[in-house]
Amino acid sequence: MDAVQLTQWKHDPEVRDVPQPDPGPGEVLLKVGGAGMCHSDLHLIHDFEAGMVPFEPPFTLGHENAGWVEALGAGVSGLEVGQPVALYGPTGCGRCHRCVQGMQNYCERQAELTSMAAGLGEDGGMAPYMLVRDSHRLLALGDLDPVQAAPLTDAGLTPYHAIKRSLGLLVPGSTAVVIGVGGLGYMGVQILDALTPATVIAVDTRRSALDMAASSGALHTLVPGESTAAEITELTRGKGADVVLDFVGNETTMQLAVASGRPLGHITIVGIGGGTYPFGFFSAPYEASLATTYWGSISELMEVLEMAERGLIRAEVERVSLADAPETYRRLARGEVNGRAVVVPA
Ligand code: NAD
Ligand code: ZN
Ligand code: ZN
Repeated sequence: MDAVQLTQWKHDPEVRDVPQPDPGPGEVLLKVGGAGMCHSDLHLIHDFEAGMVPFEPPFTLGHENAGWVEALGAGVSGLEVGQPVALYGPTGCGRCHRCVQGMQNYCERQAELTSMAAGLGEDGGMAPYMLVRDSHRLLALGDLDPVQAAPLTDAGLTPYHAIKRSLGLLVPGSTAVVIGVGGLGYMGVQILDALTPATVIAVDTRRSALDMAASSGALHTLVPGESTAAEITELTRGKGADVVLDFVGNETTMQLAVASGRPLGHITIVGIGGGTYPFGFFSAPYEASLATTYWGSISELMEVLEMAERGLIRAEVERVSLADAPETYRRLARGEVNGRAVVVPA
């Protein structure tokens, strides 16, 4: 079968012929309906090198996956062949305190793991079939189309987790700033709109992304420049934003994120843009907390799928063939993808 593989660090992915996997005991063979193309893949492809992580190419990309159960390995119960499912991505040991709470994203034995997720260290979903090692990470989809569901497992789950930590601050009269309203940020705006009465301010360098954010609940849209922090201060009548979500995470956006924040506010860095911020008494609003977040828990993914089934959130999907995936990664890098590109192998 064809698969979109990372074959070497710092080289564009390639479509290669690989053997179709067979599910062993406890494993499930997934017929892939959709595999989302995440900006993190670009960081993985271009910024990683040998020795940085405990795994090496080649492996198939695609860590946002949904599809149908194709075959069950020995001993797997609770799933039916043909059933539509979404895959909870993060790999964990399954046994530590965090893992048993459903937070495999924060597994305490991460140092011992040899892969971060299917598609991030071991074969992922950019192929007609993929192997799922722990069947309990497959969640039933109900009426949701797997192509729609695939981006929810990361582009939906990651902002949901980041927003959930700050829900208590997002009361009537509050403001949330979303920096970078691409694949993740666009879903973030919808989640804020569905769950909170906060005024949402979207910031993005691309007008097309801002237009999508405006149609999904952002009241104000700003193209970043010298005066953006001042504009946010004015829009919040001098108070600053209660919650700032930075889906870019470079030096400039982190400075904007902190400058836009309010005392007691939350500044959450989700983007992996490699930026740093010098945190200190005089460099951030009083009692503001600055945090990074990584992906989300399996129960949060259940909640995200529930929101999508109820029509509260919806990924804007561009369908891409396996053959077109390498070029689509280049388009993603150039900022030419709106919403989420999803590889549809069939
Ligand atoms: P994307 O390319 O779909 O969207 C990024 C958006 O940011 C685009 O709309 C782009 O125009 C905008 N942007 C770029 N530079 C900007 C700037 N200086 N100011 C304002 N806007 C700017 O990417 P994505 O898939 O949504 O991922 C976003 C980031 O989140 C990436 O860094 C990705 O690696 C990271 N990510 C983190 C996690 C996590 O768990 N922490 C999970 C998934 C993705
Ligand atoms: Zn991702
Ligand atoms: Zn664990």
